[in-house]
Amino acid sequence: MEIFLYVVIFIIGTFFGSFFTLAVYRIPKKEDILIKHSYCPNCNHKLGFFDLFPVFSYLFLGGKCRYCKNKIRPRYLILELLSGFTFLLVAISTKLSMYNFNSIIYTSALLIYISVLFIIAGIDKEKVTIQKEVILVGYTLEVLYIIYQCILGNSNVYQYVIYLIFLIILLILSNISLKMIAKEKYYIQILYLSLYIIIFCGSKNYICTTILTLINIFIYKVLSKHKNEKIPVGFYLCVNNILIIIISNILVNYII
Ligand SMILES: [Zn+2]
Repeated sequence: MEIFLYVVIFIIGTFFGSFFTLAVYRIPKKEDILIKHSYCPNCNHKLGFFDLFPVFSYLFLGGKCRYCKNKIRPRYLILELLSGFTFLLVAISTKLSMYNFNSIIYTSALLIYISVLFIIAGIDKEKVTIQKEVILVGYTLEVLYIIYQCILGNSNVYQYVIYLIFLIILLILSNISLKMIAKEKYYIQILYLSLYIIIFCGSKNYICTTILTLINIFIYKVLSKHKNEKIPVGFYLCVNNILIIIISNILVNYII
């Protein structure tokens, strides 16, 4: 039974992966991500129902568009698989069980949290910017989960007051910074992302995430041939955060 559950989680993950690539492509262009039909970026042909199945449609069509036969970048396949495996790993790490309601709620909330990170990471990797709209959607979902936990009595509203103060400071800062140069604006975006991580994962997790990210940036600086290239710090924060979540869950649920 558990294996069946994990297969379902993997397939859901590949569907989300397909949505992430669409979101990463469309959000910076201010295009709609929910209503507008998917289309081939080369011939603009609308994709049919069966073209929308992640992984399978790619393999079945041999990595080509059904209509213009143009090659589809394998990036899509890789991202869909990666997303499927991440969902699977997260579910295994939380010991997701169909018979435990709390475990289903927690794992779902975690997967939604991670989905927002995926989209932020994707856009940051391409454009080196963190889209405010995505972060705001993330905050909203986070608040809903916190309210749910407070109603159940699992969590205390007052511990979040400090984050609220921090968020207000950030909002003020980002409005003052309108006149600032673009580079400094990116630091404020990173602070928004940091707050998003701290609220859901807590400060210990965030410290580990930051340490890993600093190591990444250091290696990037040493190895990169283009010293002046902007580093997608948000991308590293997101990826490292997901890694730390999986590792710490495995430690808590399997080893300690
Ligand atoms: Zn096409």
